[in-house]
Amino acid sequence: MTLSLRNLSVSYGDVAAISGVDLEIKQGTTLAVLGASGSGKSTLLRAVAGLEPSHGEILWGDEPLHRLPTHLRGVGFVFQDHALFPQRNVLENVRFGLETPRYNRRDAAERASALLDRVGLAGFEERHTHELSGGERQRVALARALAPAPRVLLLDEPYGALDRELRERLMLDVREILRDSGVTVIHVTHDHDEAFALGENVAILDAGKISQCAPPSEVWANPCDLRTARFLGHTSRLRADLRAGTLRAGTSSLLDLSTALGEFAIPHENAPTHRSFDTEYWVTWRPESLRAESLRGETQKGEISRQSGGSLLTVLGTVIECSFRHGNYLLSLETAAGRVEGISSESVPRGQHLTLNLNLDEVRAYAV
Ligand code: ADP
Ligand code: MG
Repeated sequence: MTLSLRNLSVSYGDVAAISGVDLEIKQGTTLAVLGASGSGKSTLLRAVAGLEPSHGEILWGDEPLHRLPTHLRGVGFVFQDHALFPQRNVLENVRFGLETPRYNRRDAAERASALLDRVGLAGFEERHTHELSGGERQRVALARALAPAPRVLLLDEPYGALDRELRERLMLDVREILRDSGVTVIHVTHDHDEAFALGENVAILDAGKISQCAPPSEVWANPCDLRTARFLGHTSRLRADLRAGTLRAGTSSLLDLSTALGEFAIPHENAPTHRSFDTEYWVTWRPESLRAESLRGETQKGEISRQSGGSLLTVLGTVIECSFRHGNYLLSLETAAGRVEGISSESVPRGQHLTLNLNLDEVRAYAV
């Protein structure tokens, strides 16, 4: 079975919060939707749940969920702020969704207890919600959403309020629980690590539209356009022209490019949107693809060398800013091609001239 969203749109007055969203989520898998604040993530989930009027189709197999009211869609929702019922204790919160004719009181309590056990909260039944930590509240919200055995579970930035270590641990625990339960999940977040760690597929939501949806490694390696590349960490870009005479009617597997940093060739695969008639490109990269080689390099700019890690282009730059980031130093540099970002394993003073290596296997090129 597959959950399909077809041409799904929601507008608030004149403002399109999401528009033309097409997504397919296979039963039992998790789709992570990654988007900036205001990109329409919560709106998307609210539309799927039937909490927001929408246009387009929401199908479970060929069953049209968009025609059903919320309580008949078979969806569970974990809200950003957990939204536990403060006047109910933990067990009563989890039992909430089981207060239907399908469960008598004892069955409901048993199922709720079993779920609390599953999320690691056995013994918490009588606690009040204000007596819980953030991570515990999160797990109660999850148990509550899973209790009625939904087909589809919608998670709205579920770990946003938690500190990093707890989030890492809970995230992986919850992934196991969701896999075991076989539920189909849409997990929306602004957190890149979370999206790439949890989704079988990652969809990028940009101003209400899906720009790309693919397995995490594919999205990470090949952002589909310049905007998406920038969103996914390609903070530097360099104007490039196809070298005259090198447009060999698609026979070459390389793009020969001329830039202010020198001439070099990159494989066609590094230009995800490449069309044979494109002649002007932006070459983009993440900071870690441009590494300071040494503080005293004598190399000339524009030289190409080969290493086991790929072809390297020598780049000369002057350090404008240097700040510690993820175990390295993030550099902002002035180069012949303008301001770019790279990294160094050592701290570098402002004004320092540096020789750096740009790993050409890691750059991506997009037609201007
Ligand atoms: P996200 O969850 O990605 O931060 P939202 O889905 O909450 O984004 O919002 C998407 C856009 O829709 C934003 O521009 C937001 O201001 C707007 N929006 C959200 N809810 C409403 C509403 N109830 N009325 C009007 N505009 C709204
Ligand atoms: Mg939101």
